Amino acid sequence: MKDDNNIIIKKLKERGVTIKDIAELVIFLQKDYHKITYEQCEKEILKVINKKEAIHAILVGIALDEMAERKMLDQEINDIILEDKSLFGLDEVLALSIVNMHGSIALTNFGYLDKIKPTIIGKVNNDKNSCNTFLDDIIAAIAASTASRIAHSYKE
Ligand code: MG
Repeated sequence: MKDDNNIIIKKLKERGVTIKDIAELVIFLQKDYHKITYEQCEKEILKVINKKEAIHAILVGIALDEMAERKMLDQEINDIILEDKSLFGLDEVLALSIVNMHGSIALTNFGYLDKIKPTIIGKVNNDKNSCNTFLDDIIAAIAASTASRIAHSYKE
């Protein structure tokens, strides 16, 4: 992926996530339906992350993770985000603002990824050295939305 000027690609990379990691998730989601290539995935991922609403959601989510890491928020909310409390659901709600632009296939795949946390999602979720409370849901939302775009690109 050459597009180093893309602010989202840059930001995700800073947080340890590449477009290839997300493409792997998309291929995993689509494996029973369509044989797709990395190149095809990357092209569709870019379409998902280049929408203004998606850019805003991704930047806000990552900013909150980073602020919690640096203890920049009021203590109560800082602790909730840092500890990824199980009843805190705003990370999923923020990510849904991406998913909701891509229909029901995106929605069901998002729930599936959130539940099983495969590959990069599990990796960032279990990373003890950084706060990724919002990041794991953002990754799941991008992958689920991309899978939906690909599913809809095939005629029945
Ligand atoms: Mg989360």
